[in-house]
Amino acid sequence: MRPQAPARSRAASTVATVASVRQVTPRMTQVRLAGESLVGLAAVPGQTLKIYVPDLISGRLVSRDYTVRDYDPAAPRLDIDFVLHGPGPAAIWARRVRPGEPLEFVGSSGRYRPDPHVDWHLFAGDETALPAIQAYAAMLPADACAQLYLEVADAAEQQPIPTAAHPSVCWLHRGDREPGASTVLEDALRAVRLPPGQGRIWIAGHTPTVRRIRAHLITERGIDRRALYARGFWDRSIARSVAPGG
Ligand SMILES: Cc1cc2nc3c(=O)[nH]c(=O)nc-3n(C[C@H](O)[C@H](O)[C@H](O)COP(=O)(O)OP(=O)(O)OC[C@H]3O[C@@H](n4cnc5c(N)ncnc54)[C@H](O)[C@@H]3O)c2cc1C
Repeated sequence: MRPQAPARSRAASTVATVASVRQVTPRMTQVRLAGESLVGLAAVPGQTLKIYVPDLISGRLVSRDYTVRDYDPAAPRLDIDFVLHGPGPAAIWARRVRPGEPLEFVGSSGRYRPDPHVDWHLFAGDETALPAIQAYAAMLPADACAQLYLEVADAAEQQPIPTAAHPSVCWLHRGDREPGASTVLEDALRAVRLPPGQGRIWIAGHTPTVRRIRAHLITERGIDRRALYARGFWDRSIARSVAPGG
């Protein structure tokens, strides 16, 4: 099914054109958007877009949150990396989309930036968080002290982390375990040695996993809540419904 341009526009939404589709890894596809509608967009890599994709079951558009992987206002172009996890509307759209097709989105939004004044940074997440972590890593100065804990299926899902800094990068393979069913990320963070000084921790991914790690860091490690950004990005126990107004 070829997605139709939305019949009615939402407040402050943008409709851009898919310029290219690139298979980054076996489970990750990068969709590059282009077109005049991207001119002047106040987008920053790492921010969130609400995209609208067709739900093949209901025939309606549904909204999903995705990260601005990269944005070049001069081109203009905007990249979004999609995990090809299965039968969700967004994953299906990303698997099938071809250059020339439209994508409507709202945003971007989000104020998180790596704090340049702290002694250390820790970023952790599964592959849905990888585009944001790549974006934040690229913002780190060369002398930043940073640790990255990244859960992916296997070595084929590992990606470059372009950054001026020299972070320690720990790839965690969940192997045959289903996404969201592995404890590799939680186990790694329970074992992590945090550097001395003031730091910032950013964690995102499977919601129950993120909640457990957050609780551990606050209650068992005594991490100040203000030093911790933790956000659930998806939940394997939740069957999604059609967005209101979609
Ligand atoms: C702020 C924010 C930023 C995000 N950025 C990105 C991003 O840049 N790239 C990206 O790929 N995702 C990102 N996500 C996660 C993405 O929004 C969810 O994975 C979303 O559920 C995918 O929508 P869908 O229509 O494909 O599947 P849904 O209809 O939402 O879900 C269908 C089924 O698939 C399961 N499911 C959903 N996601 C996954 C997954 N990753 N692995 C395994 N099973 C899954 C659900 O539990 C459900 O059972 C982000 C989420 C948030 C909140």
